[in-house]
Amino acid sequence: LVAYGGPVTAEARPAPYLNPRLSVEGRVDDLLDRMSLDDKLGQMTQPERRFVTPEEITRYRIGSVLSSGGSAPSPNTAEKWADMYDGLQRAALAGPLRVPIMYGVDAVHGHNTVVGATIFPHNIGLGASRDPDLVRRIGAATAAEMAGTGVDWDFAPCVCVARNDRWGRTYESFGEVPELPAMMTTMIEGLQGERLGGSASVLATAKHFVGDGGTEGGDDRGDARISEEELRAVHLPPFRAAVKRGVGSVMISYSSWNGQKMHRNRYLINDVLKGELGFTGVVVSDYKGIDDIDGRAGFTRDEVATAINAGIDVVMVPAEWRRFIEYLRDEVKGGDVPMSRIDDANRRILTKKFELGLFERPLADRSYLRTVGSAAHRALARRAVAESQVLLKNDGDVLPLEDDDKIFVAGRSADDIGMQSGGWTITWQGRPGPITPGTTILDGIRKAVDPSAAVAYSRDGKGIDRSYDAAIAVVGEEPYAEYHGDRTGDLGLGGEDLETIERLRAAGVPVIVVLVSGRPMDVAAKLPGWDALLAAWLPGTEGAGVADVLYGEAEPTGRLPVTWMRDGAQQPINQGDGKEPLFPLGFGLTYDD
Ligand code: BGC
Repeated sequence: LVAYGGPVTAEARPAPYLNPRLSVEGRVDDLLDRMSLDDKLGQMTQPERRFVTPEEITRYRIGSVLSSGGSAPSPNTAEKWADMYDGLQRAALAGPLRVPIMYGVDAVHGHNTVVGATIFPHNIGLGASRDPDLVRRIGAATAAEMAGTGVDWDFAPCVCVARNDRWGRTYESFGEVPELPAMMTTMIEGLQGERLGGSASVLATAKHFVGDGGTEGGDDRGDARISEEELRAVHLPPFRAAVKRGVGSVMISYSSWNGQKMHRNRYLINDVLKGELGFTGVVVSDYKGIDDIDGRAGFTRDEVATAINAGIDVVMVPAEWRRFIEYLRDEVKGGDVPMSRIDDANRRILTKKFELGLFERPLADRSYLRTVGSAAHRALARRAVAESQVLLKNDGDVLPLEDDDKIFVAGRSADDIGMQSGGWTITWQGRPGPITPGTTILDGIRKAVDPSAAVAYSRDGKGIDRSYDAAIAVVGEEPYAEYHGDRTGDLGLGGEDLETIERLRAAGVPVIVVLVSGRPMDVAAKLPGWDALLAAWLPGTEGAGVADVLYGEAEPTGRLPVTWMRDGAQQPINQGDGKEPLFPLGFGLTYDD
């Protein structure tokens, strides 16, 4: 601590809040007493990294900074992240009270904005694994990779209950029933550790409060038109579970509940989340989440007051953070936001900073850099991939394959790390291509087979003949994130994918379809022509886990975390046309069936 400028007070002894032997509560009280209104407003303000300079962090006593897709360092390596973090942290510590910042990212399937990090399956695959202990370990591995870069606030896990596959965030959900996300709140324990501030411990965020997956038509940022009874029965339980596990923060949803934006819903945020559920951590807005509280773009003084009075403690105001501070100051001075609310927000924020040990250990712990993309983490991810596979069809026991079978592999997603990782990978939207190191599904298959049994591959399936024992088509969805992924029409496979499968079928060999997608797809009409169907979800960088199941190294133990529609009209789940679904929730074959 002395390295950051010595005691804060004129006395020889450091101020009590800098003394790690005092209780967190006592330290918070002492620090709060020393803070001016501007100090407190800064703590509640979260700019995006590309819109704030280190000097501004010092001057405005900024409390936290976020990186979204557009603000990774260059080059985008773990070491550069650590340098970036430390630079901003030093700026925060240069302020008069030396209050450290927290730095937040969306590490939603591993530390996924960092090139070379281990990318785990997206939540929908983890929901299929039904393995909360595995998910806890994934949280811990993610926290270790984050610790090396200094980043200490994770905007994960998403504990949404996805009720309509058209929703472009369905893959961020552990499943369509509250029990699955509630079960997987073990990720919070993994991320935060047994207690905040242990080694490799980051602040977890349960998001998005509440009802994000229950909107009409599956619209992202839409309106959940449901009764309070249904909201409480379906969408609230995962948050209750998250609070029980000690989650440090909760993010508010962009969506509305019966026409009212969640960012202004004082009843649900203040009375239910903080009151009834007893949440004592930090409530954070979504990115520009206060902007359209009144339905119009951009935020006004009124919207700032409404959001803070509703119970939001930290606001993500990427670029317009100066205006936010100005408006909030006016609203406090004018009496529309009580000082007690500002103090409560600061108490929550500072408590987490003390608990995380940031005052004692503010800089990146570079000893963890060696865990980024480590063999141990990749092995854990590979196991998670294998556990998340759901076998939906296996006619004539075409699977598992023998390792001396002669195999032909095709499809856009067969040899593509970007495709198999989906959105929120390196960039916000993700994209096809070799965007980060890993093992493609084709690489995994090649490693699984006997060296004498060469694997043939062509992306489009051309070149196959009758000499093969089986053909594997790896097809599905291209990466997307948030509203861009919403579909108004069907959820069927694209023309290119269907043509690839047809080429394989035309050769007259058994065809195994491996679906790389963030949600169930409308395949009922095509299914009779396929011999096997494996739902691989969005496995991430360790494609070998898919091969493990194809070759029987691992049993297919995954169970559907969502109902599989019979046709695209069958949305929201189990509704629409009165037909039975193609595969029910919980369905999954094994090799003994
Ligand atoms: C998403 C959040 C995310 C935030 C910060 C928003 O657009 O809805 O899930 O945490 O951006 O990147």
